[in-house]
Amino acid sequence: MAIFEIGILARITWNLHSLNNEGTVGNVTEPRTVVLANGEKTDGISGEMLKHIHAYNVWLLQEDKSLFCSACQKFHPQRADLITDRTNKPGVAMKTAISSCILCDLHGFLVQRPSIGRPSTVEFGWALGIPDKTHRDIHIHARHSMVGRSREEAKTESEEQEAKTEVKEAKVEEKQVTAQMIYHRPTRSGIYALISIFQPWRIGLNEIDYQYVIEESDRKLRFQLALNAYKASLIRTDGAMTSTRLPHVEGIEGALVISEKNFPVPVVSPLTETYVTQTEELVNRERGLSIKKFSNQAQFNSLIDELLSEEIYKLNMP
Ligand SMILES: [Zn+2]
Repeated sequence: MAIFEIGILARITWNLHSLNNEGTVGNVTEPRTVVLANGEKTDGISGEMLKHIHAYNVWLLQEDKSLFCSACQKFHPQRADLITDRTNKPGVAMKTAISSCILCDLHGFLVQRPSIGRPSTVEFGWALGIPDKTHRDIHIHARHSMVGRSREEAKTESEEQEAKTEVKEAKVEEKQVTAQMIYHRPTRSGIYALISIFQPWRIGLNEIDYQYVIEESDRKLRFQLALNAYKASLIRTDGAMTSTRLPHVEGIEGALVISEKNFPVPVVSPLTETYVTQTEELVNRERGLSIKKFSNQAQFNSLIDELLSEEIYKLNMP
């Protein structure tokens, strides 16, 4: 048996974070808001943000950066598109990009000429706040410097005070208005439903002629790197505003779903309370599927560690 796909279904509790925002208009930063099937609005952290965090950890955890293409060595988001030889045929361009770069292979890329697209082997859905278990707030902050201080002192001081000072206090210091800026920043706390799929069977696969273009030992190394990047991404999630809104991670629970034949893993959203039992029922009906539950980060990490030594599924191509 060999690993075809891995699904991660989890509920993760983040307190007072601001990992993902719509953007900033003037001095107001708006948190992400999404609408669920029943019309209910809730808090969300985009799949793009979560995928970016995973990709960054793939880059960080690989010591030998020469195993990335020259674009990915510097973590340029264009990946293979920055460096592809435009005169190559699509199959050759795909083979070159996959064989020369771990990140291009695992996380995918788009090349404009020749026009080819490599879908990611790692997929994330939005992390969705469970509506009755998510709360948000907008805080008003002021950044101000003290009269009479040198510019450097003021700068250091303002950084320290950046996320601390209440607006009332700022009013008292009206005289310093030229150096003062009031801004509105969101914080959110809640339990978030997180889903991700990893498709090891596609590692090293040129999806133009459906041939594997790297050695099995290299496929294994990329497989292990992607798995370890999951541990790193969940043990400390680095999104937006972490310089002043580093999330208080309270807990994680959920299940890994593993497919050891060419059949997709089921993804039941952790938005629903019964996601684990529903997944168990589906897994029990299909040979080759299994489920492993976890109730904290250490258990999640050890389940991932157990997978590191597993074989990887390979298409049986003529
Ligand atoms: Zn690359």
